Amino acid sequence: MNAIWQGARRRVAARWMPLAAATLVLLALVILQQLDATAALISVGALFTIAAFWPLDTAGLIEALSGSGSSVARAKRGPDLDRKGWRAVVDAIPTSAVALDAAGSVVHYNRLACDFFPKIRNGLPMSQLSRNPDLIGAVDRALATDERIDVELIERVPVERRVSASVSQLAHSPSPSSPRLLITFRDLTEQDRLAQMRADFIANASHELRTPLASLRAFVETLQGPARDDPAARERFLGVMASQAERMTRLIDDLLSLSRVEMRVHLSPRGIVELNETAAYVCQSLEPVAEGLGISLTLQRDKTPARIRGDREEIVQVIQNLIQNAIKYGREGGRVDVRVGHEPPYASAGARVWVSVSDDGPGIAPVHLPRLTERFYRVNVTSSREKGGTGLGLAIVKHILNRHRGEIKIDSKLGAGSVFTVSFDELGANG
Ligand code: ADP
Repeated sequence: MNAIWQGARRRVAARWMPLAAATLVLLALVILQQLDATAALISVGALFTIAAFWPLDTAGLIEALSGSGSSVARAKRGPDLDRKGWRAVVDAIPTSAVALDAAGSVVHYNRLACDFFPKIRNGLPMSQLSRNPDLIGAVDRALATDERIDVELIERVPVERRVSASVSQLAHSPSPSSPRLLITFRDLTEQDRLAQMRADFIANASHELRTPLASLRAFVETLQGPARDDPAARERFLGVMASQAERMTRLIDDLLSLSRVEMRVHLSPRGIVELNETAAYVCQSLEPVAEGLGISLTLQRDKTPARIRGDREEIVQVIQNLIQNAIKYGREGGRVDVRVGHEPPYASAGARVWVSVSDDGPGIAPVHLPRLTERFYRVNVTSSREKGGTGLGLAIVKHILNRHRGEIKIDSKLGAGSVFTVSFDELGANG
């Protein structure tokens, strides 16, 4: 009732000028005896009544004209729209967000907040939502002052994570159920993980480069000192130095290659690559290497074209890395078989095309399989280095596959060789 009365007063106050003018005109008509005093009084009453209940906003006017909604509903509309408005804002915040009232209890929260606080519900006091003293203290301080307060929290349950919480004041409102504080949460765990990965990567890369560099420096010092006049030693040392320099070059090439692929990972490839032809090209280029180690390298093409959307240079790199690994880590005098195929058969909807590279080497223990595509991960570091490995080949393969929406599958058993299969969406005949 009070709300209706307050709304009527607000509308009359907003229209005081036209109301005063109309009253003066009616008064003048009465004085000039052009209008009966009773009729003038009835007209003034009618004007005030209309002014008191005629909605101020256009939407309300349309609704009033169409006759929908009661006057009580209309009187409530303003606060309702406000309430919907700030709830929508909280819902739209792209991180976890919780709104608290002046008593520090939850009045609204977005969907992401449920991930942070599975037990969250409206009406729950903040102290029951989180037991973290820093967060509870920040809420108390923000309620008492008008400051925005940032706190960093280490949450241990259900999993350990570092979270940044920001407590901000919203506008003061006379209604106790209106939001007074907004707390937004940002999980820094993923950011920390990426920073750690970057730091590990730089440490690994520096270590990989420092080892051959230290060896080169040691040989230079020996050649400048004790071996200065020893032609046989000089010859031997220069050979080792050349191979260390080659190792550094390979590592730098792979690092640059990885960085190039990483930079382009979100750019979809535009070319068309035929896997039978590409696999044949790579096999032909690696044939002399395989032959040198007494390994028979065979290719079994698919009977039908195996076309994918791709970057030919990168697909060559993928197949080359897999065949080089099969030659490096396979059995000396053994065999490496390359196959191209479809699954399900050619031109079916959702068909995938694949290239597999199998060897009859010592195989890989299951514990290593999930980690082989990590940068610098090697089953045996010494053996990889001896064979000219950098530990980056499969990481490069993985990144190229990500860009091509391709997949890698590794099947291996100790003593029974390994099969590395990469697969891609087939490009239809009209693609
Ligand atoms: P690397 O430069 O050391 O060869 P990769 O990333 O290409 O680095 O491979 C990572 C590791 O995976 C290798 O060091 C090796 O231990 C293992 N590996 C890769 N391919 C094979 C294979 N065909 N047979 C056995 N082990 C393999």
